[in-house]
Amino acid sequence: MSLQRPLGLFIVCDEALPARLQAGRQLSIPTAQILAPGRRDRLSAKALARQFEEAGMQITVVFCGFSGESYADIPTVAATVGLVPPATRSQRLIEAKEISDFAAELGVPATALHIGFIGDELDSPEYRAMVATAQELCDHCRKNNQRLHLETGQETAQELLKFIAEVNRPNLAVNFDPANMILYGCGEPLPALKLLGPLVKSVHCKDAKWAAHPGKEWGLEVPLGEGDVDMAAFIQALNEIGYAGPLTIEREIVGDQQLLDMQKGVELLNRLNV
Ligand code: MG
Repeated sequence: MSLQRPLGLFIVCDEALPARLQAGRQLSIPTAQILAPGRRDRLSAKALARQFEEAGMQITVVFCGFSGESYADIPTVAATVGLVPPATRSQRLIEAKEISDFAAELGVPATALHIGFIGDELDSPEYRAMVATAQELCDHCRKNNQRLHLETGQETAQELLKFIAEVNRPNLAVNFDPANMILYGCGEPLPALKLLGPLVKSVHCKDAKWAAHPGKEWGLEVPLGEGDVDMAAFIQALNEIGYAGPLTIEREIVGDQQLLDMQKGVELLNRLNV
């Protein structure tokens, strides 16, 4: 089976947004995932929607980000990212619901996040608390007619599957990022993709090289096609699982180089995505 999917860009809505939108327009990219702007800027959903419309880009997923999160190294991610850290959980859950409401105002059918390191101790109080937290957020998203997408990488695909089964909500899905599997040392991306199969409702096209000691230190994020994700095999695996959604290019650097790397990513995907 071959599926020609629309391309997309992962876009952070900060002061460089106009340049990113211009790049999207120049490259004729029809879709975008966005990182939700900060609370103050979320008052202007209509203005943001208009900017994307003018660029010819449909927003497909809104990602949550929270103040206090740090991706400095893997232990810092575990301590600071997502809904897992207990000290910030209730406040961030409120904010995630607000972001879901903001996504609804934009008319976007999915909210997404890095939920954090959920681990595999199913009977622990912390794990049960995370199941309940995810259920509450899923139920809020459902009222907004949205799915909730969990970003991959901070656990193995088996652990993620187990968590999704425990949460047991029909609108819970996966944003599959093959590079994260490598960066966090959580398993080979392609078998993980095939295992998650129909749960995958959005993807990041991102590339990375394995660390010398995977899971203990970061791998290295690199431009699409230059890392250890076999992009041709990735596209083939997406065909096999019947994924027909956008191919959203993510490059986690800033400035002009980010846009140049994304442009090269577009060229690569235009060759492979047939
Ligand atoms: Mg990603």
